[in-house]
Amino acid sequence: MPVRPGPATALILFGPPGSGKGTQAKLLQSCMGAPHISTGDMLRHHIELGDDLGRRVRSIMAAGRLVPDELVNELVALRISEPDAAHGFILDGYPRTVQQAEVMGKLLEEQKITPVVVHLKVDYNKIINRLSGRRVCPVCGTLYSLGSNPPKIEGICDKDGACLVTREDDSEPVVRRRLEEYDVQTKPLVDYFQKGGVAYHQVDGSDGAPQAIAKRVCELMKRG
Ligand code: ADP
Repeated sequence: MPVRPGPATALILFGPPGSGKGTQAKLLQSCMGAPHISTGDMLRHHIELGDDLGRRVRSIMAAGRLVPDELVNELVALRISEPDAAHGFILDGYPRTVQQAEVMGKLLEEQKITPVVVHLKVDYNKIINRLSGRRVCPVCGTLYSLGSNPPKIEGICDKDGACLVTREDDSEPVVRRRLEEYDVQTKPLVDYFQKGGVAYHQVDGSDGAPQAIAKRVCELMKRG
């Protein structure tokens, strides 16, 4: 049974790159009865379209840096004003700076949605291994890990048969840069959430299969 009905909740999946936010968000959609909103996926979509925004962010993302706050804030504000987000949503990769958290706080207040932060903790050495073995389906977005969750046929998506690709920013030097950005810009948000009285839970993001971790998060959300 999904977490709804009840007060509308935004599940904020928080954690370093490679902690499994995207995988968990996809798995938790049925538990939450709410859509998955990923700023990274939205930005990559603009890059694929080759539009103005895509051209502005491409090199920033390829270098493993954060794109400017005002761009992501605007994308999120637009997305959460859509009807399917009226009763809550799962945020993956947002907020990532204090300024983004401030904007998010206002947006949630306006929509009368309560934030709950779930922090996926994973050791950085594991992250570097995970991301170098990560593959993604360019058609349906399914994520695979060559170590722990490989596709049935090498290089091919189980769901639609498309050829899997490696994300441009999953090379080791860029992963290290992304972890630095996380340490400097994003990690301080833990303090920010706690001082602001936002519900905050830590979950071991490497203890078991993705489905087992999602089950634990789902239970946590049901308990409120
Ligand atoms: P990960 O969490 O594994 O780094 P994402 O897909 O969430 O993967 O993000 C990929 C990249 O997209 C980031 O390195 C950054 O350049 C950009 N990005 C995504 N979300 C944000 C955000 N909230 N603020 C700034 N940049 C972002």
